[in-house]
Amino acid sequence: MRVAILGAGLAGLACAYELERLGIRPVIFEKRHRVGERFPNVEIMPQILHHRPSRDIFLELRQHLGLPLQPSGAITRVTLHGPSRAVTAQGHIGYFTIRGHDDRSLERQLQRHLKAEIRFRRHPHPDRLAREFDRVVVATGDQEVTRALGLWQRDLAGWLRGAVVRGDFDPSSLHIWFRTEYAKSGYGYLAPFDERRAFAMVAVPDSNAEEVDRYWQRFLRAEGAGWKVEREAKLEKFEIGQAAAHTVGPLLLVGNAGGFVEPLVGCGQCPSLYSGVMAAREIALGDGSLTRFARRWRGWYRRLLRVRRWLSEQENSGFDRLVGALSLTGARTALFRSPLPLIAPAGALLGALGLGTGPIPEPGHQQEPGPSPP
Ligand SMILES: Cc1cc2nc3c(=O)[nH]c(=O)nc-3n(C[C@H](O)[C@H](O)[C@H](O)COP(=O)(O)OP(=O)(O)OC[C@H]3O[C@@H](n4cnc5c(N)ncnc54)[C@H](O)[C@@H]3O)c2cc1C
Repeated sequence: MRVAILGAGLAGLACAYELERLGIRPVIFEKRHRVGERFPNVEIMPQILHHRPSRDIFLELRQHLGLPLQPSGAITRVTLHGPSRAVTAQGHIGYFTIRGHDDRSLERQLQRHLKAEIRFRRHPHPDRLAREFDRVVVATGDQEVTRALGLWQRDLAGWLRGAVVRGDFDPSSLHIWFRTEYAKSGYGYLAPFDERRAFAMVAVPDSNAEEVDRYWQRFLRAEGAGWKVEREAKLEKFEIGQAAAHTVGPLLLVGNAGGFVEPLVGCGQCPSLYSGVMAAREIALGDGSLTRFARRWRGWYRRLLRVRRWLSEQENSGFDRLVGALSLTGARTALFRSPLPLIAPAGALLGALGLGTGPIPEPGHQQEPGPSPP
């Protein structure tokens, strides 16, 4: 069987790795000139956003998906900064990962294990590939193809702005800021590469290029007194949403292209890796793995979207109440140490209480606003 993969990012390389394990050598097309040619940054994989928080994420990636990946470090402390108070939780919070061309990045780790040919500076149209290959995996990290197929439903949009900064950092501490002056209902975060360098970023929903710059400057002035900006990240627009289908004829949509990014804070690494491996199993074994995974993902996604919508309605007073609630040991323990994915039932509860307002339409069945009730 001839398989093409469009995009040598997390989902595409995870797919290639699993295909090779199952005896199929794909051809990978990458539009840039090398793997990881994006802004180098530190990302997070929090245990509470894992579908089984009691299971170590990287252990699961190794045992369940067979992916030989290592994080750059463990997160053992997280400080949530509200507008006027902060709370710190300790324990096995999750992992830091490095992205980009760094030797330790997840994409470079995967690349080192592959035999498949990667054709760089190539971005053929999927229709053309479909004439040459039996299956085409779309792993482009954006929704261009999904949208062109009429399958994309956008739920959130915003802008990211950040920088690599120098300073003194605790390599196992993550800081997150919820404050409308920094990011509206989004957030700012600081994640360390090591003791001397960190990645700082704001994610601002419903924004634009000039506005996100103003939020970033305000965040940097207020929180970055001890930081020296080493390299500014270019402005990046992001969209989070759902794909109505993940297999269309010979095409399979994975990673960001398939909507595999959770909508609460925008973590997409884990679901992208999962979707890549499931696509490989669906191709090699014909067992519907991707379709089944996508169905489970949709339920999880929609509950987190409910929590995101509730968060989006909060002002600074609401953020302070949230941080205040987490100052209670019981609440903190329940959220960060519970073996159950409590964040998902919280979404269902918000829905049942009519909070986190607005219907969440099924992708592919976009609801037009109907007439107002009399
Ligand atoms: C600044 C930032 C911070 C983030 N922070 C986090 C975080 O803390 N935690 C988390 O879990 N997630 C985070 N994410 C999201 C996470 O990085 C993505 O969800 C994940 O990388 C998606 O994997 P992917 O394989 O779909 O795309 P990518 O890993 O982006 O790979 C896509 C690849 O396809 C290539 N490509 C694009 N178009 C074409 C084409 N037409 N033809 C050929 N090749 C093409 C690209 O060059 C790239 O190599 C963050 C994202 C950004 C931008």
